Order: sequence, then structure tokens, then C-alpha cells
Amino acid sequence: MRRSLVVGNWKMNGSQSANQALLAQCLAENLGTAEVAVCPPALYVQAVAEQLKESSIGWGVQNLSEADSGAYTGEISAAMVADLGCHYAIVGHSERRTLYAETDSLVAAKALQASAAGVAPIVCVGETLQQREAGQTLEVVGRQLKALLDHERFGELGDWVVAYEPVWAIGTGLTATPAQAQQVHGYIRGVLAEVSGSLADRVRILYGGSVKAANAAELFAEADIDGGLVGGASLVGSEFIAICRAA
Ligand code: PGA
Repeated sequence: MRRSLVVGNWKMNGSQSANQALLAQCLAENLGTAEVAVCPPALYVQAVAEQLKESSIGWGVQNLSEADSGAYTGEISAAMVADLGCHYAIVGHSERRTLYAETDSLVAAKALQASAAGVAPIVCVGETLQQREAGQTLEVVGRQLKALLDHERFGELGDWVVAYEPVWAIGTGLTATPAQAQQVHGYIRGVLAEVSGSLADRVRILYGGSVKAANAAELFAEADIDGGLVGGASLVGSEFIAICRAA
């Protein structure tokens, strides 16, 4: 059985005081049985780790470098991410793919880099509205996923997570219907099963894209949706708590 997972992706939001207040609110509540983690901006990871270290809530980063160390101004390495006790590293978020031109092969390299340092990558995949309307959803998602599955070093990958995030549903208030999401999650599960049955059984597939308290339970009820990657609603304590409980 896969344990449900809810990850808050704070994106470029927050402040020391706002983060502390948000986490204090979460720590005061029963979050249910799902595994929960938050991914603050990298600058705040140390403070977040300090606040969460005795709790059941984990933490991670939203991005990392594919390089080991050295002259890469502005980047953070997988070793640093591991050094701060991060459990997860989001890689290939659509905002990084679109705004920072991250390619499928770069995303695969980042996933392998995180994993080699003992940090589980959360590999984001998803189609744009134009691709969905052109009937290319499964082809796009399959291509993004296979960049990792077909990588020569794929066998070295440890624990990892997939996040299906239709680009048209991110931050737009538009959510994929449970049936639309399940169709793609089922497809992803099938692609994993082509590699091995145990991989398909083991890897958690999160849904992301305007998850909120009002729609979380129906999404998480689908057979192949193992939790959520939550953006906007993860910044609102009451919303995030309700989403965690729904998982
Ligand atoms: P959203 O973002 O929940 O605000 O749509 C999700 C994400 O980008 O991970």
C-alpha cells in the first residue's frame, strides 16, 4: 500500500514571520494519516527545518542544481539540500520548464542528482491547455516521464514521486475533474508498469493544479491519485490542514 502524500509548494511566497505562523497553525492541528511536507523558498529551509524537526511534517526544496558544486552562482546543490535534512526536491515544475527553459533531460539530471544525495525527487509532468486541446496530453506526459525512465542511470534512482500537474490548472482556479486526473494518473501508472510491476506499485503519483479543501477529497478518492502537490492553498493554514486530512 502506498501512503498518501501531501506536499505544499510555497513557490516564491512567504516571510520569516508568515512561515512561522503558518507552520505553527499546522503543528497545532491533527493532519490525519497522510505524510505531509512543505517546500519553502530555499532561503527559508533552515528556519523551517528548525521549526519542524520534532514534528511529523517533512520539508524540501522547489529546485536544485544538476551540478555537484563550484562556480554556479545562485544555485544550490543536492548535497546542500541533503545537508539541511530535506526529504524532497521538486524538479521540473512547469514554471521552471516554461520560465527557465528546463528541458526533459535537464529535469531527469536534476532528479538523479537529488536521489544520489538521498533526497527523493518529485518529478513534475503535465500538458498545456493547447496540448490538451490538440489531444496530445498522454503523449506529452509520456515523453516527460520517459526522459527519466529511459535515462542510462535510471537504475540508480531511489525513492521518487511523480506529480501530474496540468499546466492549465496551475494557479488558475481550474481543476482537472477527478475523472480527467485519474485518466492521466492511470496512464502514468501504466508507463511505470512497463518498467516493472513493483515500480508501478511503489511510486506515488500526486495531482497538482488548484487543489483546495473543497476538491481534495474527490481527487484523492481516485485509485491512482496518491495525494497532492499544493500551491496557492498550501499558504492558507486552514486550507492546507483540510487538504492533508482529506488525503
Ligand atoms: P496551485 O499550484 O495549487 O496554486 O495550482 C500547484 C503547483 O504549481 O504545484
